[in-house]
Amino acid sequence: MDSNVSTFFQVLASFDMATFSGVRALGVRHVRTLDAFAMDDIEKTLKEYLTLDEPSVVIARQPCALLPEGRKRWMPLAALADACNGCTLCFRLGCPAILKSTELDEHTQRPKALIDPVLCTGCEVCAEICPRDAITFRPASTTITAKKKGVAP
Ligand code: SF4
Ligand code: SF4
Repeated sequence: MDSNVSTFFQVLASFDMATFSGVRALGVRHVRTLDAFAMDDIEKTLKEYLTLDEPSVVIARQPCALLPEGRKRWMPLAALADACNGCTLCFRLGCPAILKSTELDEHTQRPKALIDPVLCTGCEVCAEICPRDAITFRPASTTITAKKKGVAP
């Protein structure tokens, strides 16, 4: 990251207008609030902000998925052993629910992904980044992500 650029990525349990205003009050001119799961928007904004020669702030907004209300809304995903080749992309997300299976891909000899259903909140971020569509989306999901991939009604 360019050392002249200060970009802060802040995850908030709930949106507080004071946060936005507070950041502005600090003199930061570039402040944007985004859906924490809108990966395309986040990527686009981070790329744009990283070109700036001044501080910028991205506020990623979503309720905590581990709260009881969140657990009712989400359901765990699964990694499809037949489709996964152990490319490691999802491991690099740092999600504690994504484990390395004892099963190795026959070509890469790397462990396949395994999702712990107790820890998985069903956020679908791993499903979005998997290049082999080896992670299922939630059934009948109406999220932006699933619609984009054409797997939701
Ligand atoms: S990103 Fe997809 S193909 Fe790669 S390890 Fe994860 S589940 Fe497997
Ligand atoms: S859906 Fe979200 S919580 Fe579940 S394994 Fe993927 S990244 Fe982790």
